[in-house]
Amino acid sequence: MHLRPRPSPLQLLQHPAATAAGISLFCKRDDLYTLAPGTALQGNKVRKLEGFLQAALTGDQKPVLVSFGGAYSNHLSALSTAGRLYELRVVLYVRGEEADNPLLDRARADGAYLRHLSRAEYRRKGEEAWLKDRQLELALEYRLPINSIWFIAEGGTCPDSARNVGKLYNEVVDELGALPDYLCLSAGTGGSAAGIIGAAEAATRVEVFPALKGNWMADEIRRLLPQNSSDNWTTITDYHFGGYGKFPKDWIVPSEGLAKRAKIGEPDLPPLEPIYTAKLFYGVLDRIRKGDYPPGSSVVVVHSGGIY
Ligand SMILES: *Cc1c(COP(=O)(O)O)cnc(C)c1O
Repeated sequence: MHLRPRPSPLQLLQHPAATAAGISLFCKRDDLYTLAPGTALQGNKVRKLEGFLQAALTGDQKPVLVSFGGAYSNHLSALSTAGRLYELRVVLYVRGEEADNPLLDRARADGAYLRHLSRAEYRRKGEEAWLKDRQLELALEYRLPINSIWFIAEGGTCPDSARNVGKLYNEVVDELGALPDYLCLSAGTGGSAAGIIGAAEAATRVEVFPALKGNWMADEIRRLLPQNSSDNWTTITDYHFGGYGKFPKDWIVPSEGLAKRAKIGEPDLPPLEPIYTAKLFYGVLDRIRKGDYPPGSSVVVVHSGGIY
């Protein structure tokens, strides 16, 4: 079984701000990067899970896939969807005791086994001994050898999955027929950013827009970067709007089924969700209007997908 979707399309956006600034604005529609259209298994979460899923379906014995996330994690939704589609057992450790929500209900309906952890216990997921105990517990429960219990880090982020996200850069270069001058993307854990910076040529400036408040993102990305990566990148920390899950009151955020959509008062944009991609597009358009991109330059904005 081969799990790689086709490259996602690169679209030229005819936005008035781009025209006025004399730049070419493109969107890498990675929200269309999927093996299962209409599900949560799309965008950068697919790029990060591909390797795990491929390996899980290749071995003699299907492993149990275990991961971690908040109650509105796109990663947990993507993983539980994959569990349903590929008949893999999935265990999700969810941060906080908070009550149910439609995303978690859907994950349960997909067949995932959910375990809520207090915030204090959730933080222990970085401890080797704690993980080992969970692994033993699950191996006994599922009557499987210990090495059939696979942990996938929060957000699916690890050096290998980051490298796989980096292939998006090569797709952009193929589609554009040139190296983009700027490539802009959102960041949560920074895994996708590290992968793209690792793949990028030095001629491309990579701009990372954290969706969270704080100054730690650059260090986090550096920790995940392969050696000899381009250093032509920067974090743009002005567009978190107060932190993860927060956004301006005047954004209109209707729900479409499970998905949330953000209308940010700009014409001709693809559908955006409020957590990551709406903040990113808002930030890029603001920078375009401020003249941060020289006339004649090509600016590629990565639509990393997301339903919530
Ligand atoms: C998870 C997610 C991100 C963050 O990706 P990281 O690799 O964790 O930085 C960005 N955009 C969307 C739509 C996501 O779902």
